[in-house]
Amino acid sequence: MSDANSGSLVSSAYNQALEVIASVEPRIADATRQELADQRASLKLIASENYASPAVLLTMGTWLSDKYAEGTIGHRFYAGCQNVDTVEALAAEHARELFGAPYAYVQPHSGIDANLVAYWSILAHRVEGPWLEKVGAKNVNELSDEDWEKLRHEFGSQRLLGMSLDSGGHLTHGFRPNISGKMFHQQQYGTDPETGLLDYDVVRAKAKEFKPLVLVAGYSAYPRRINFAKMREIADEVGATLFVDMAHFAGLVAGKVFTGDENPVPFAHITATTTHKSLRGPRGGLLLAQEEYAPSVDRGCPMVLGGPLSHVMAAKAVALAEARRPEFQTYAQDVADNAQHLAEGFLSRGAKLVTGGTDNHIVLLDVTSFGLTGRQAESALLDAGVVTNRNSVPADPNGAWYTSGIRLGTPALTTRGFGKDEFDRVAELIVHVLQNTQPGTTKAGTPSQASYSLAEGVADKVKDASAEMLDKHPLYPGLELK
Ligand code: PLP
Repeated sequence: MSDANSGSLVSSAYNQALEVIASVEPRIADATRQELADQRASLKLIASENYASPAVLLTMGTWLSDKYAEGTIGHRFYAGCQNVDTVEALAAEHARELFGAPYAYVQPHSGIDANLVAYWSILAHRVEGPWLEKVGAKNVNELSDEDWEKLRHEFGSQRLLGMSLDSGGHLTHGFRPNISGKMFHQQQYGTDPETGLLDYDVVRAKAKEFKPLVLVAGYSAYPRRINFAKMREIADEVGATLFVDMAHFAGLVAGKVFTGDENPVPFAHITATTTHKSLRGPRGGLLLAQEEYAPSVDRGCPMVLGGPLSHVMAAKAVALAEARRPEFQTYAQDVADNAQHLAEGFLSRGAKLVTGGTDNHIVLLDVTSFGLTGRQAESALLDAGVVTNRNSVPADPNGAWYTSGIRLGTPALTTRGFGKDEFDRVAELIVHVLQNTQPGTTKAGTPSQASYSLAEGVADKVKDASAEMLDKHPLYPGLELK
């Protein structure tokens, strides 16, 4: 981080801001201070979290928040949007340049919102557009009631094929309880039950049989890379639109760790991402698209999204500018290398990993060999100051709530400067906690999937060992709150 992004300048910025906040609602200032203390004191291994730079965080705290700017650059439903236009255009330009995409849309408020815009724009481009042309109407308002009903039926009759949740897909990839599972007739592809790996022949066979309008690729908890050239080939064979959700691994694409066939941007018709995970920006989303989809994506707000958060778009521009610097490529490579070190740390201690390892930023630890559910493991680790989240493993015997896995990611601690030795030590500490955790029983005396007991002294020992590493790699160095 540059000097202006650390040390006394940042300390005075935050101390003064907190003083202003405290003058109105001191409890919010206190919670904000406490959150920094908590984040500093814990091993943050949640694969979807990171630490944005002070420049990114500070950008969000301004009066850009006060402006309504529905619509798109140069074409707003409100007057006086010239500065928002500047902000949005800059963020989009950084996104296009960073990812080498023909078009970028930076308004989505989150990853789920970005995915909804993608689905809507695919339907608009591939169903609504041709339908209007067929009946000779310029827009939906010109349709007769009868044609409108037919169009609604067409909209609701489309098919989507995505990765199943327990194989690592996201709930917006056609999971039934999610809106994506209701908007579309959906089917899912899984991973190989033996290896846990994606089998492109199986995806192809499913696609040929199901003939989806949308083929979704991307994941929340798959610890491997995807060959997007192959996914595009499959999409083309069945006439599907390839939609890639790179929410998790956008930082590895931006940092040029995933290149060639592993970079989704040239292959996908539409790519969506969050901006706050491995990309290390503010909480938010964005979309990249091939030219043919740009006009429909551009209508995301107000067709799908509420008014843009201009202060967050500004922070996206700052984060994307950071990601275009050479240091970000070093960071991204470190994230991937550290995941290898973490995986090796587990494997050398006899732990079981889904797919036997990793080649991205995620390690998915199967905790059944410790006799635990994911829920028990997650809770025991949290007691010891290790923040993770439980996650399903393929064909999970404990279901999606209790689960059998723990998902771990390296983006956050890599930002703090953790390297090989630290990640090996992290694996050692996690194994130590899990080996010393016993599953509990229910009141009726049957095995519980939630309760557990952690042997005395283990939590403190692990916290002390973590503190040594965390002190060596401070979060926001030089930032001292009063
Ligand atoms: N897509 C994927 C693959 C994700 O993992 C997530 C978040 O967990 C999302 C979308 C949703 O992102 P958000 O929480 O910003 O809506």
